[in-house]
Amino acid sequence: MNETKTTSARTEALRTLLHGARERVVRDIEAQIGRRLDETTRGRIDAALDLEDRASMDLEDDTDFALLEIRYKTYKDIAEAFRRLESGTYGLCERCGADIPIARLEAESFARFCVPCLTAIEAVERVEREEKRFAS
Ligand SMILES: [Zn+2]
Repeated sequence: MNETKTTSARTEALRTLLHGARERVVRDIEAQIGRRLDETTRGRIDAALDLEDRASMDLEDDTDFALLEIRYKTYKDIAEAFRRLESGTYGLCERCGADIPIARLEAESFARFCVPCLTAIEAVERVEREEKRFAS
């Protein structure tokens, strides 16, 4: 069926996109901790990045550690995105359920809303901020 074909082509594109994002963050983490993570370790990156074990990582300072934590969080977000991809909810707008365009996801892998919804949400937030300002 035509529709099914379109959906799976999109799923494939999203999978490629997430693989690319994961490769980038794994490379960044590897560069930062100064060693390669082999395939097995990549599968269990939690073990490789035992964040309690900072001393063994030979990081320059707390700034480096904060950066590593951000990258680690990104890695976990990507893992979560893969799970959502498998269940068919990755790349869908959480507000209206529309497909978020792939170009937008390429720029922002974890975009949760389509642009029209994001614009609407931001407009509401702006109004709420204004109201708070006047109320205080
Ligand atoms: Zn939307």
